[in-house]
Amino acid sequence: MWPPSAIWAPMASGHWRDPGESLIRVQFGMERSSDHDERDGLTRRGVLGVGAAGAAGLAIGAPGAEAARRVVRRSDVIVVGAGLAGLAAARRLRRKGKSVTVLEARDRVGGRTLNHKIAGGKVVEVGGQWVGPTQDRVFALISELGLKTFPTYDTGDNLYYRSDAVTPLQRYTGTIPPANIASLIELSQVLAKLDAMALEVPLDAPWKATNAVEWDSQTLETWKLANTTLQETRDLVDLAIASIFAAEPRDLSLLGVLFYIHSAGTFENLINVAGGAQEQRVVGGSQRISIKMARRLGRRVVLRAPVHSIRRSKRGVEVHTPKGIWIGRRVIVAIPPTLAGRIEYYPRLPGLRDQYTQRIPMGTVIKCIAVYDKPFWRDEGLTGQVTSNVGPVKVTYDNSPPDGNPGALLGFVEGADARALLRKSASARRAAVLESFVRYFGPTAGRPRNYFDMSWADQPYTRGCYGAFTPPGVLLDYGDQTRKPVGPIHWAGTESATLWNGYMDGAIESGYRAADEVAKRL
Ligand code: FAD
Repeated sequence: MWPPSAIWAPMASGHWRDPGESLIRVQFGMERSSDHDERDGLTRRGVLGVGAAGAAGLAIGAPGAEAARRVVRRSDVIVVGAGLAGLAAARRLRRKGKSVTVLEARDRVGGRTLNHKIAGGKVVEVGGQWVGPTQDRVFALISELGLKTFPTYDTGDNLYYRSDAVTPLQRYTGTIPPANIASLIELSQVLAKLDAMALEVPLDAPWKATNAVEWDSQTLETWKLANTTLQETRDLVDLAIASIFAAEPRDLSLLGVLFYIHSAGTFENLINVAGGAQEQRVVGGSQRISIKMARRLGRRVVLRAPVHSIRRSKRGVEVHTPKGIWIGRRVIVAIPPTLAGRIEYYPRLPGLRDQYTQRIPMGTVIKCIAVYDKPFWRDEGLTGQVTSNVGPVKVTYDNSPPDGNPGALLGFVEGADARALLRKSASARRAAVLESFVRYFGPTAGRPRNYFDMSWADQPYTRGCYGAFTPPGVLLDYGDQTRKPVGPIHWAGTESATLWNGYMDGAIESGYRAADEVAKRL
């Protein structure tokens, strides 16, 4: 069963250590609201998480009924969630001179980004990892934080596996798989149609598209069946959709898919490596973006503080956690809608906002990584990228560190394949994934020196990935609730982004937008 002890071992000891970075750990203490210093706030005392609390005389070290009732700190703004959205919002607010506290449920920052050590301080990510062209916010932040990117390994031939072909496994170069030519023509027509329709969907109000009623009244599956005739085209559409949403075409509103395409620019932007969303990776792992932001926010980031209720009063908000109560003039809830719906609000949220959070499910994905002494597929002239119609792994990438040592093969199990595999034991899961790797890369792939996988559906403070999706009818009737503040409560998180919704870039956009929204009202 997940989680494997290998990943959680560092966390069980109460910290998350990023190679080359300081320890990130629970930090206590009173914030001086006049302190606008953006320097690394992790002092030795802050890191160890004891001194400041003791000095302030607060009983917040021992969660319990007593601690939960104490007011710990007042800030202009309380941010719920130390993922990219929450941290970006907090950083922006600090720059605007506002005092801020970020409350994070987990004992680490980064949310859906998570580095996992594989060897000698090197890491691979078990959460979000790639960045690509037009994701300007994430690139700007990477550069501001002194981080670097490197290209996804993309040299050589890709593999196309089709179980009913005379030769099931074929090599190909470029982005177009060696499918039946009629299917390829049909596929390109389908993608062109989707791109053209997507342009008609307003990014800030998809429900206002001229054809919103028609498009939000059907699933992508219905549309696909009406617009394709060939099985191979349909399989390729299914595969692309699963790899973007970790869900099936039958799960998704057509309008929601069109919004998502427009949000990223084009369908190809979403699926491509070169020139697309999978083009680059962050040296040292994408979680470093959050770790670096958290370091600069210092003791303003409080870990292991799951927010369970938010109370509004004339003066602002009280944000309740098992560690105590944080008081602010406004709060930014920077978590996926389904998690926001699990927080108790007093007074109750408007029914429409509550129903919105009931209707935005998360995708289902298991990210699987096998580590080898070296990326042996490179010696055979292969990129490590596979497109297949047989699961459980239908898509793979070379996920080795920048120097290619050791070799890491990444396989995604998505949508219905993930839902099926989650019903199996951890050892059956590992066996099924390695069987897929052997099918594509031969027997060597069956003998990794290490294997681990991450089922995000099993993570209580995420509940699924890559992000949320909208089933039919949701955008039309509830879409206007996405970003609409409720009194002093504001909403962030990648699910509320207009550009690159669902991605790290979108998370950052949403954090900036919420921070600006709040700053205007303080
Ligand atoms: P989150 O990262 O979910 O942050 C929310 C934070 O709030 C979390 O830290 C959570 O612990 C905390 N929290 C939740 N509930 C509470 C509570 N009640 N109280 C306090 N704290 C709470 N994106 C890309 O751009 N490129 C990719 O290649 C990519 N691949 C992905 C692969 C996988 C396997 C996954 C899981 C995601 C991937 N993504 C990718 C998506 C990307 O990771 C997310 O869009 C982004 O990280 C979301 O950031 P966020 O801040 O909006 O939300």
